[in-house]
Amino acid sequence: MKKIAIVGAGPGGLTAAMVLAKRGYEVEVFEKESVVGGRNAELRLGDFRFDIGPTFLMMKFVLDKAFKEAGVDGDKLLDFRRLDPMYRLIFEKFSMDVSSDSEQMKREIARCFPGEEDGLELFMQAEEKRFQHIYACLEKDYSSIADFFKPTFLRALRYIPFGRSIFDYLGNYFNSEKLRLAFTFQSKYLGMSAWECPGFFVILPYIEHAFGIFHVQGGLSEISRVMAEVAERNGAKIHLNAKVEELILVRGAVKGVRLEDGREVLADETILNADFAHAMETLVPKGVLKKYAPEKLKKLKYSCSTFMLYLGLNKTFDDLPHHNIIFAKDYRENTEDIFKRLKLSEDISFYVRNASLTDESLAPKGKSAIYVLVPVPNQGSGIDWEKEKAGFREMVLDAIATRTSAGDLRPHIEVERVITPAAWASSGVYQGATFNLAHTMTQMLYFRPRNKFEELDNCYLVGGGTHPGSGLPTIYHSGLIAANMITERDRKPE
Ligand SMILES: Cc1cc2nc3c(=O)[nH]c(=O)nc-3n(C[C@H](O)[C@H](O)[C@H](O)COP(=O)(O)OP(=O)(O)OC[C@H]3O[C@@H](n4cnc5c(N)ncnc54)[C@H](O)[C@@H]3O)c2cc1C
Repeated sequence: MKKIAIVGAGPGGLTAAMVLAKRGYEVEVFEKESVVGGRNAELRLGDFRFDIGPTFLMMKFVLDKAFKEAGVDGDKLLDFRRLDPMYRLIFEKFSMDVSSDSEQMKREIARCFPGEEDGLELFMQAEEKRFQHIYACLEKDYSSIADFFKPTFLRALRYIPFGRSIFDYLGNYFNSEKLRLAFTFQSKYLGMSAWECPGFFVILPYIEHAFGIFHVQGGLSEISRVMAEVAERNGAKIHLNAKVEELILVRGAVKGVRLEDGREVLADETILNADFAHAMETLVPKGVLKKYAPEKLKKLKYSCSTFMLYLGLNKTFDDLPHHNIIFAKDYRENTEDIFKRLKLSEDISFYVRNASLTDESLAPKGKSAIYVLVPVPNQGSGIDWEKEKAGFREMVLDAIATRTSAGDLRPHIEVERVITPAAWASSGVYQGATFNLAHTMTQMLYFRPRNKFEELDNCYLVGGGTHPGSGLPTIYHSGLIAANMITERDRKPE
């Protein structure tokens, strides 16, 4: 059977590894870190456990499909918990608990935005059709411009609200700006502004309300850990602390990888899961790439970055739900600071996760593992994080004290880790743009880096910077699409 080399054991690489190994390929995964999972790995601080990145699992059915293709039942390997209410939205003067139970949600809208509750039914009915059509496009590869003329795309065309942002589009259902924010802040999952994110991403709030969101006991990093186990059980070899230094190229085709320790590993096909733009800049010998040459990469649009605080605390916070989204008093201004003015806001929007409330495995009894994420400009901003880090941390802790029920966390901190945009960048995330390439219309589908890489032969791309996009379900799809393209190619007679 053919040999496959995979660069990176993040969610995209692990999906491809477990599926291709199941299909009998000889798979070797090279991961530069000492653990699998990438941005979806676990962070352990003393007895406290955190997810480094993803905390919301949406569209669980995509993960189920990936496990099925790998020959296992994910529900038997992981303990999934559907969260309801899904999350609390905290505005300046009131808060709202968002539920995927439509009757409960309608009551909550009526309580917070009297007279607007009928919009929910309209939203769910109209958006179901859009979801079906757009989702069908995201499952397919877009290797050729001809894919735009296939029935799946042509049928979806009339559901794409060209020229409208997700915020603008929500006006079809709701009048209140704050209620529109409750259905558009999800653009931040892509690291984008609700006023710039294309209207068809209205499928994101639909997906949450239709299918719910899940936690995995032990943290979402458990998904990556289990995927690696399944891949190995299927015969894949995963090498940790094995940084790939360069791709081995012969006449425009990738013939394998050269590791940092000088070893060369030859392969019939190579799959790149490392951050797309960073991989192009560092793994491909200079002068080879045209479309994605370093100077062209600089001109692409990237997501925002995130300032992260992981806190192990000697106290529980029983009034603070599992997921909390806190909106800046002036959300629009804060968004413009992040995406247009490229500066740090004093009035921040942020996310606080108190997962140890519902998952005792994350913190010792009587204690809490709190995760805080603050969207901030990416490193294109030139912000000096060495200078800003300490002051910004204080501001975030002040904001938690004044805007949530948790109060001042400082006296309770036992262990702590901060990740700044500069730290993301130095870990191999291009411009520290944690959610990869932005999802603008000109960087989607055929125009996003394709799963069969157009610039190099025998090379496939998976992960958040590639088609279909950033976010766990789409990343699992990228792994499935790449695996299927390799399998299809092998089925075809030479
Ligand atoms: C803070 C944060 C919160 C997020 N929250 C969510 C969420 O709630 N829900 C959601 O669906 N998504 C979320 N995401 C987005 C996305 O799901 C994750 O970022 C996801 O982990 C990206 O997966 P990936 O496959 O692109 O690769 P990564 O996770 O980036 O993994 C790539 C791997 O490649 C390795 N690598 C890189 N270069 C080399 C090399 N030269 N040699 C060997 N190995 C290499 C890296 O070490 C890494 O392990 C979040 C992301 C972040 C950062």
